[in-house]
Amino acid sequence: MTTIQTQLERVQARIQNACHAAGRPADAVTLLAVSKTFGPDAVAAAFAAGQTAFGENYLQEAVQKITALRHLPLVWHCIGPIQSNKTRLVAEHFDWVQTIDRLKIAQRLSQQRPAHLPPLQVCIQVNVDGGPTKSGVPPNEALALARDVAVLPHLRLRGLMCIPEPATDVEAACAVFKRATDLFDTINQTGLALDTLSMGMSADLEAAIASGSTLVRVGSAIFGQRSYVVG
Ligand SMILES: *Cc1c(COP(=O)(O)O)cnc(C)c1O
Repeated sequence: MTTIQTQLERVQARIQNACHAAGRPADAVTLLAVSKTFGPDAVAAAFAAGQTAFGENYLQEAVQKITALRHLPLVWHCIGPIQSNKTRLVAEHFDWVQTIDRLKIAQRLSQQRPAHLPPLQVCIQVNVDGGPTKSGVPPNEALALARDVAVLPHLRLRGLMCIPEPATDVEAACAVFKRATDLFDTINQTGLALDTLSMGMSADLEAAIASGSTLVRVGSAIFGQRSYVVG
């Protein structure tokens, strides 16, 4: 068994245990494998072990990998910040974009989504803990942005994503994640049918699942430590 397969199985077991502990069905949470800084071989190994959804942060690196692995039925999520002059590449290569935090970016992605592809699946990124260095829309602006994005023709609004600062303990992590869940519920009550709440990473996926996450983004616990820091 490859290391990646073993680590993938460990992460899947963590997700299942967390769902069980929270009284949620085992299939309530999707695993996104964050493959940034790892090459096509690592992605192919994870695919061979059953993983199909992958997340990338850095556009140039992502486009190379997506192109190299075009023969595999993979689903690619953009989870990094997007510059407005790079939206065309994103619209042409990805299946999902989780980092919408401005209407202008969403409009460009919709205009530039190639006609032969299905709508781009998108999440609004929310700066749920007010972290100063974080991208993401402030929570009190999320509903207005969601309404504007939901009507764009070549996008399909699926939900919210957040990247809170690492918390000191599980209770603190849950308190922040719970704010995202409350916002998600509030937006859904307005009639927007969101089904994706993207939160939780290698270190805090249990707290995120306990708080209502439907998609966890896990990198190092699957692929190992990243040997360089980018971005
Ligand atoms: C890198 C990254 C992850 C994965 O982080 P790990 O701690 O390696 O699991 C998840 N989400 C985003 C947005 C990232 O940039």
